Amino acid sequence: MNILVINAGSSSLKYQLLNPETQQVLAKGLCERIGIDGKFTYKPEGKEAVKEADVAMPTHNEAIKAVLDALVDPKNGVIGSMKEIDAVGHRVVHGGEKFAKSVRITDEVMAAIEECNPLAPLHNPANIIGIKACQALMPGTPMVAVFDTAFHQTMPPAAYMYALPYEYYEKDKVRRYGFHGTSHKYVTQRAAAMLGKPIEELKLISCHLGNGSSIAAVDGGKSVDTSMGFTPLAGLPMGTRCGDIDAGILQYLMNKYGMDIDKMLNVLNKKSGVEGLSCVSSDFRDLENAAAEGNEKAALAQKKFAYEVRKYVGSYAAAMGGVDAVIFTAGVGENDKAIRSMVCQGLEYMGLELDAAANDVRGKETVISAAGSKVKVLLIPTNEELMIAIDTAALAK
Ligand code: AMP
Repeated sequence: MNILVINAGSSSLKYQLLNPETQQVLAKGLCERIGIDGKFTYKPEGKEAVKEADVAMPTHNEAIKAVLDALVDPKNGVIGSMKEIDAVGHRVVHGGEKFAKSVRITDEVMAAIEECNPLAPLHNPANIIGIKACQALMPGTPMVAVFDTAFHQTMPPAAYMYALPYEYYEKDKVRRYGFHGTSHKYVTQRAAAMLGKPIEELKLISCHLGNGSSIAAVDGGKSVDTSMGFTPLAGLPMGTRCGDIDAGILQYLMNKYGMDIDKMLNVLNKKSGVEGLSCVSSDFRDLENAAAEGNEKAALAQKKFAYEVRKYVGSYAAAMGGVDAVIFTAGVGENDKAIRSMVCQGLEYMGLELDAAANDVRGKETVISAAGSKVKVLLIPTNEELMIAIDTAALAK
């Protein structure tokens, strides 16, 4: 079964054609600068990547058409015809409280996704454009929506409610939603497989540490708490996002510098996090190099990040009444052994001990805790496309 996975942004579109049963990726790539000057990248399995600039891509329709043409191209294509695409899985950022799992896309589902637009005004409209473009070019092919928020819909009210006047929840849907759900779901399922236990019997803490970062407490396969909130700005400090801060800071800085809320949010989303703190970069590789050269702010940014991750690990162990394994995933979690080591420092009291030699590894599914560690530490490369394809195949059948 071949599934086309689409992740549409406002001016870009990532795609992958894969078989979820064999996990074979037939082709993948990226359309960029849609509506500007169209850049197209296509990488068929086992062959050189094809890169084209100035491709006519005024809308997402032409971008999807370029993807489909490439997939069936007689020279570089990977399938004989579009009939070999059994279903399309679309990443959709926000499913609100309506969607607790992936769904087949119908007219009613499209309307419900549109209703979630105010909750994710930058992302959902772009996801919808991607779905409509595929529907126009592939009528009759089953389409499935896979939501970033859905996995966290199992959180109990004590975890998802903010201590604000209740009417803001009832009338305005203000609550914690959480994001990166597809990644947290994938790595926790893999963790159960690695530990050889049913997921229902496990308490897991999943640390998705990338440019955007979030942590999830997953008890018995269900998300019971997560660090991102109403928006992805909450929780950990990230590449350029501040994470949790005192809301009173906004009033103080806005008054002092005459900033309106848009300017303030731009600072919090794009100029803060480890970049803001280090005055160096949002990229953890740059932080490590700068810290090694004696840059104290870069070292502080690394320490602050690891400290906040460690605090979440401790609080989620408390929330679940224990933890069987801590998982590291995404760009930083999979590649940065120094950050993993800093996070795990001082957690021996709760039975978590990292193995320094085993931790000297990148991007590989492996156990990195010491042999006697009661709490296992796992490195699991995330694979959101595969998770989307698995859900899509199950619903398309
Ligand atoms: P993601 O958002 O999951 O794609 O993660 C991207 C981030 O991962 C980058 O901004 C880097 O900070 C980080 N990263 C990628 N490779 C490495 C590496 N080798 N060492 C440390 N950090 C890395």
